[in-house]
Amino acid sequence: MSGTIREILVLSGKGGTGKTSLAASFAALARKTVFCDADVEAPNLAILLEPDESRCEDFHGLPVYRIDEGKCTRCGRCEAACRFHAIQDCRIFPESCEGCGVCAIVCRDDAVVREERVTGRILRSSTRLGTLVHGNILPGAGNSGKLVSRLKEIAREQARSHGAGAILTDGPPGIGCPVIAALGGVDYVLAVTEPTPSGLHDLERLLDLVAHFGIPAGVVVNKSDLKPELSHRIRETALRRGRDDLGEIPFDPSVPGDIAKGRIPSETGSPFGRRAENIFHEVLRRGADMGRRGRHGE
Ligand code: SF4
Ligand code: SF4
Repeated sequence: MSGTIREILVLSGKGGTGKTSLAASFAALARKTVFCDADVEAPNLAILLEPDESRCEDFHGLPVYRIDEGKCTRCGRCEAACRFHAIQDCRIFPESCEGCGVCAIVCRDDAVVREERVTGRILRSSTRLGTLVHGNILPGAGNSGKLVSRLKEIAREQARSHGAGAILTDGPPGIGCPVIAALGGVDYVLAVTEPTPSGLHDLERLLDLVAHFGIPAGVVVNKSDLKPELSHRIRETALRRGRDDLGEIPFDPSVPGDIAKGRIPSETGSPFGRRAENIFHEVLRRGADMGRRGRHGE
């Protein structure tokens, strides 16, 4: 795979599983890697990597459409054409509008107005660990999948322009549209879970999604010693489904305090950090080309 950029994505079926703690630990160990925080509703990797300089640009999401009452002849063509039923009585209801623009096409009176809107921010930052691409979606701006796709495109541009061999992405939680966007072009998914019944359930749904896209994946059980039997079951599930069992991380009470102080576990020498380092090398062993050359920027 030399010459290609390897893309590693860290995911979890839901938030709060230790996903970002692990992604940040990997970031501190990786070399020649561009980082991407695709968790645009809670970009915590960006907080941990402490950007010292950022270039910021607006992100434009779906355009909004409105009807100019002064031009509208109330012919009803737009309402009949809108398959999302977002138009009633010559009014567009933004919460139902998918921004397809069909109403503007069918209107013969030029009464449908398209307006661009800023729905988020994109940042390209330098950090002590390398280049970070991140951003955030504005509250109420709706679906963030398009922003996630854009962040990944920029991360690839950055990796190419800096000659980086890998992109490490901290993905959004869950299995929704932003996660699907984050999966595009990924070489390996690292799924982090906790040993709870809901953790197993969420993991299974996530692995279904990853399998749908045919992406290799491995599973890590965080806080494994809190429920050893369930941890064992999760690891068996991973293997039964043809996924890599990347091991367990026992509960480490020092992690929340370290994270709150902006300390990355793999740099503190904490038990979590040491396990994260083992897992990082295991991921490398399985073909992710991070850490084999000089640090990005050197
Ligand atoms: S198609 Fe144009 S003119 Fe007709 S109802 Fe819709 S906005 Fe008004
Ligand atoms: S842009 Fe599409 S979804 Fe929105 S009101 Fe027009 S036709 Fe309906």
